Amino acid sequence: MKIIPHFIGGQKTGGASQRRSDVFNPATGEVQAQVALGDAVDLESAVSAARAAFPKWADTPALTRSRILFRVRDLVEKRADELAAVISAEHGKTIPDAKGEVTRGMEVIEFATAAPEILKGEYTEQVSRGIDAWTMRQPLGIAAGITPFNFPVMVPLWMAPMAIATGNCFIIKPSERDPSASVMLAEIFKEAGLPDGVLQVVHGDKDMVNAILEHPEIKAVSFVGSTPIAKHVYATGTAHGKRVQALGGAKNHAIVMPDCDLDKTVDALTGAAWGSAGERCMAISVAVAVGPVADALVNKLAERARTLKIGPGEDGSNDMGPLITAQHRERVCRLVDSGVEQGATLVVDGREHVISGHEKGFFTGASLFDNVTYDMKIYQEEIFGPVLCVMRAPDFETALKLVNESPFGNGTAIFTRDGDTARSFTHRVQAGMVGINVPIPVPMAFHSFGGWKDSLFGDHHMHGPEGVRFFTRLKAVTSRWPEGIRNGAEFSMPTLG
Ligand code: NAD
Repeated sequence: MKIIPHFIGGQKTGGASQRRSDVFNPATGEVQAQVALGDAVDLESAVSAARAAFPKWADTPALTRSRILFRVRDLVEKRADELAAVISAEHGKTIPDAKGEVTRGMEVIEFATAAPEILKGEYTEQVSRGIDAWTMRQPLGIAAGITPFNFPVMVPLWMAPMAIATGNCFIIKPSERDPSASVMLAEIFKEAGLPDGVLQVVHGDKDMVNAILEHPEIKAVSFVGSTPIAKHVYATGTAHGKRVQALGGAKNHAIVMPDCDLDKTVDALTGAAWGSAGERCMAISVAVAVGPVADALVNKLAERARTLKIGPGEDGSNDMGPLITAQHRERVCRLVDSGVEQGATLVVDGREHVISGHEKGFFTGASLFDNVTYDMKIYQEEIFGPVLCVMRAPDFETALKLVNESPFGNGTAIFTRDGDTARSFTHRVQAGMVGINVPIPVPMAFHSFGGWKDSLFGDHHMHGPEGVRFFTRLKAVTSRWPEGIRNGAEFSMPTLG
């Protein structure tokens, strides 16, 4: 059985702990490898390698760090097919979707190559006579990233290039369900010339996460995953004095106005609801149909749901692949059961979808519900599967209220041709990322990604300018030279003079 190793101090290692976890091929349902589940001893090895590497890395000119990132970027591009194949084999998503994820991750590397520019401070000459002042951003030290299964390349790359460009050492703890891609990324960074100990990978489950959260030398933790774990990571990490950004789950609503371009809206919702089997934190899981558009919307969506091409991710012509595990498949199907029991109309039922030749794979078909109401479990919970819930609202105000009352606030979208409505929506909606006729409004790498409410705990969004702030601390310097120093001690608060 293949064992997926940690990557510590520039080397692959099985680590100290003997615990292992199965890594499945979700398309066949077979175990294809095992991953080493590390513990506090393995983490200590990584922290000591990072401790040794940090002083030199922090003192390395930003331009030199940037040149290494340029090489990383080129290697990621060169090996994009290989990375996509690794993602697809362990996660199950289709190869074209996996390649898209690699590109979105690569864009964060491209942003981080601007390290000398993004780390520029602010300077004010003559804040008082003979006195100058400036600010600069310095690295925190050792930081860690804990990532979810659904983007095994993109989410580590939301974090690692930002942490490294700003002079930190970074330890990734990837999802134990698809851990290989992180090891491959660490090898790419090493090949590009990154010194050993600056980027490392430790595998594990909650024991490793808790060891990270409690380790006194880890100064910052960047987390992406489900809301209950995000809350735990934020509470425990901050209680141990760390800076934490913890991005959680979502229930993203799209408001469909009667004046929208219906065919284009249906295209957009089809990809956003069922693409990647709905396992995206920015998936649209609720469509709120306003007024008379509902019947036509549901009919057209149903037609699309019934004709999606579903199968293994390695066949690039498929629209969607399997779910991540058998347990997750069961959970999704149970939630669909609950929707039926609570009175929603199941227009398309994906529960019994079998792929011939892949009977043991973790597949479901696409499901579509109509007449979903606020109190139903399928509305209250993040399903994280290929299930779209349609709700009906009499007017825009009712639809907006629904979005704003959701405990989640990750992404949201409106489909309309009316500028007034779109502007009102943008201004008043309680969510971190907003699309106008754009179903999945994921900000580009040079902006920052993050939700509101239960979709993010902490103060900083991910990558872009917010990523620079998260991984650095500000130092303000005030300076004068002997000619500008007045004689005598000063006892009052200094003011302009
Ligand atoms: P998850 O919360 O189960 O796991 C995330 C990470 O936490 C993994 O590395 C895992 O090993 C660790 N973990 C799991 N259980 C733990 C526990 N009890 N204690 C400590 N650590 C634990 O999430 P997942 O199933 O891998 O990913 C799907 C979730 O992530 C969805 O809720 C999705 O919305 C969310 N997500 C959010 C964003 C975002 O940007 N907001 C992006 C991607 C995914």
